[in-house]
Amino acid sequence: DLIPQDTEAILLVEFEGEDASIEAKGIDLRARVVDEIGLGTGGVLAHDKGQMEKLWRLRKAAVPMVMKSTGRRRPIPFIEDVVVPPQRLPDFLDGLHTILENYAVDSAAYGHAGEGNIHVRPLLDLSRQKDIEKMEAVAGEVYSLVRGLGGSPSGEHGDGLVRAPFLKDFSGPLYELFFWTKRIFDPKGILNPDKKICDKVSISEDLRFGASYENVPTGTGFDDKNLIEQIERCHGCGMCRSAVDTTMCPVYKALGDEKYTPRAKANLLRALVRGRLKPDELIGDPQFRELIDMCYQCRMCLSECPTEVNMPLLTKLAKAEIVKRHGMSLSDRMFCNFESVGRLASRSALASNFLMRIAAMRAVVEWLSGLSRARNMPPFNKGQFKLKKKSSLLRGRRVVVYFPGCFVNFMDARLGQSLSNLLERADMELVVPDLSCCGIPSLSLGDLDGARKRAERNIRALLPFASKGIPIVATCPSCALALKKEYIELLGTEEAQVVAGMVHDATAF
Ligand code: SF4
Ligand code: SF4
Repeated sequence: DLIPQDTEAILLVEFEGEDASIEAKGIDLRARVVDEIGLGTGGVLAHDKGQMEKLWRLRKAAVPMVMKSTGRRRPIPFIEDVVVPPQRLPDFLDGLHTILENYAVDSAAYGHAGEGNIHVRPLLDLSRQKDIEKMEAVAGEVYSLVRGLGGSPSGEHGDGLVRAPFLKDFSGPLYELFFWTKRIFDPKGILNPDKKICDKVSISEDLRFGASYENVPTGTGFDDKNLIEQIERCHGCGMCRSAVDTTMCPVYKALGDEKYTPRAKANLLRALVRGRLKPDELIGDPQFRELIDMCYQCRMCLSECPTEVNMPLLTKLAKAEIVKRHGMSLSDRMFCNFESVGRLASRSALASNFLMRIAAMRAVVEWLSGLSRARNMPPFNKGQFKLKKKSSLLRGRRVVVYFPGCFVNFMDARLGQSLSNLLERADMELVVPDLSCCGIPSLSLGDLDGARKRAERNIRALLPFASKGIPIVATCPSCALALKKEYIELLGTEEAQVVAGMVHDATAF
């Protein structure tokens, strides 16, 4: 509602100050820009903190919005950080617009007007020779425009590889100084080779894609074009190995090895779909199996990666390919079927819990399942969880469906019962339909068929409630995740969407 639909560009100006004259400055600027110069239409004055934050959120959303564009054309960062004296910014924007129009290249741009620093993302498909040529031509013309305006190829980021071929022209006599400094401290050219000082004249050498790029059939689940698109979405920005400001990837953060990052997995999978690695070479490699195993499906990369590479999905499929070729270990099979194990153990809970206290038995369990004997397993319930209603159903009480999951069903019945007691006080009645394990163990251990069967059964049981608008509550976060996100991905059905729309985590209900 703040920004009209057909807006082409937005300029945000923030004023700081203690007194009311600040607002007058804003009104004055708007009058000059809109009424006198005729540069814009409308103009919004944000008076309070909430409105200001809303506007700044728009700016912050710019990068993710551009990066998430789908299709073969991608936002390519080759004129990404140019900076010109702020008073020359209008000339730069005019020139940029003309260059891009001449080459029929769509683009998005955002930046810091006050500093004359603009990030431009032209949309190109770098697997087409024509677009590669456009990239070279546009880069040459834009950098010469920037030079003519007294600007620099990078304002807030490094020069990297992509600007290196232009630095000689930008730096003039200083370039020789760069050259000799580099030569003295790095005579063999092994530190950041080709950055700043390089012999390259073209930015299209060493392209990730390039005109010869093609995908080859692999005979694996990765031949699907949507999955290939997911793999190719990774543009190598390295945010997933950032030590600050992100939570992804926790495995990389803990182990500090690039091979555990989503980027490394995307690179390996790209090598597979490109035919650089044969399926047996990759999927049969114990190192690949280890790094796929280490992804514990936290989904942090999916929410933080600027291009939304669905690495959790790709990892699950990789795991399924590994299982197809190498089978599943006994312990993984046990976890996939924890429902049966739990049912059996809780039927004879006294004996199971007694046995689990015996050191020798814990050693056997460790050998079978990999669960450390040093860990205290929660005891099994006496029988599967069954709700005990404190009071009989009162007319008008709101019905809520409960998804207890294996943990409450076989190990912590008190949690489910407490939720029921609590909701009864709020005049709500819990019901538990005939449900199965949520299937998360199967999903993450590569048994996709098993996960699908469980998902289908749960959706069948929950749909009659969800389609009547009855909320579904889960106490286990993994079960909630399965119901809210994983089933949609796994089944791709409207029914899964309807159910997902009614699911709540108990703590947020
Ligand atoms: S997976 Fe995402 S965050 Fe990581 S390098 Fe690729 S694009 Fe960047
Ligand atoms: S889902 Fe896997 S790859 Fe992504 S952040 Fe979590 S552990 Fe890392």
